Amino acid sequence: SRRLVEVMTLDGRVMADEHTDMHFATRSVHSGTQHIEGAVNTPIFQSSTYRLTDERYEGWAAGAQHTLLYARLSSVNSEACVQKICAMEGAEDGELFASGMAAISTTLMGLLSQGDHIVASADVYGGTYGLMTGELPRFGIEVTMADMQDPASYEAAIQDNTRILYIETISNPVLKICDIEAMAEIAHRHGIILIIDNTFASPWGCQPIELGCDLVIHSTTKYLGGHSDVVGGAVVGRADLIAQLFPKKVHFGGGPDPNACYLLERGMRTLSARMPIHAANGADIAQRLESHPMITSVMHPTLASHPDHELAMRIMPKGCGMIAFVVEGGDAAALRFMRSLNLIFEATSLGGVESLVECPFNSSHMFIPEAIRHASGLVPGFVRISLGIEDVEDLWADIEQALQASAMLAVPV
Ligand SMILES: *Cc1c(COP(=O)(O)O)cnc(C)c1O
Repeated sequence: SRRLVEVMTLDGRVMADEHTDMHFATRSVHSGTQHIEGAVNTPIFQSSTYRLTDERYEGWAAGAQHTLLYARLSSVNSEACVQKICAMEGAEDGELFASGMAAISTTLMGLLSQGDHIVASADVYGGTYGLMTGELPRFGIEVTMADMQDPASYEAAIQDNTRILYIETISNPVLKICDIEAMAEIAHRHGIILIIDNTFASPWGCQPIELGCDLVIHSTTKYLGGHSDVVGGAVVGRADLIAQLFPKKVHFGGGPDPNACYLLERGMRTLSARMPIHAANGADIAQRLESHPMITSVMHPTLASHPDHELAMRIMPKGCGMIAFVVEGGDAAALRFMRSLNLIFEATSLGGVESLVECPFNSSHMFIPEAIRHASGLVPGFVRISLGIEDVEDLWADIEQALQASAMLAVPV
């Protein structure tokens, strides 16, 4: 189990509580918060370096992990955040990063060496796909793209030098669900590390460590931060793997700034209050869209029509705030619809309190050849919305008027 962080302050040592015996909501509020000088919230410790004391020299000599020496390694605010994420994910230990991609690149380049092999899926997050196909091979790391909706395809791709199976809870943007338990069974039978990106589900929606994952990665930019005001990342899980990753974080230099950590901690304290609204809005809007005459298909794991519905009810039964759907009339109609929205904001990213919309064909997936895009389910007319926590009636009114307006704008043939 995790050590308690000891924070040295002017008035002595403060021990942060783990609250591991308490429920998720309590942990998301209290775990990790450093009550320095009796403060209710962790104050912003905007200092790049710390006074060297005998105890800190000792910590340095012991490897420096979680020792307050220098803010690239660790800071009061990053320790508060990482403890909270560990408490929410049920993880032994973790490290915090300046972005989700810093967490992913440090994890993969830190655990893999020349001659190693990783199995992933072609529909992983775009930045992760770029790292795996554009960067890792340059360092002699072999990558095989299998299908994360088909655990057997992962097993078939395993070689003698395979070190990592890499998956995501929900794929972006078609929202397919990964059978995490089946993947864990395969990984551990072969002695391979299973890493999951749990960003889309959040620790409220899915608990991958309980399902057998060794490491869980988050872009904390999304649901954990929750307010579209900070970029960050985290990796949490097995203590032995995190201890291996800490020196890599120090060498690669992707540690987070204390002020960004402060915003992240503030956001995470309301995660358990925000997530049920994101998920309820997702389920509600998905259902309404499914019976709208201008919508060809809707993707949301709570819908009985979703191909992975039963699996979703096992892996992440509380649902999620992301929806995807296909507007009749192709990409031109999808664009007209998107541009007719007044309340829902046209921007990439997700997980904030405000609803965001994008069409993958001209944004996140624009560099993927059209034929491959269409084959992977990103058919013409595809729209993705990250539902915020606004009132569902206002969201629906905006969607309805935008569908109507876009129909009137259509050029008759
Ligand atoms: C956004 C995102 C990332 C990358 O995170 P950044 O914070 O933007 O670097 C990785 N994985 C998923 C699933 C994401 O949504």
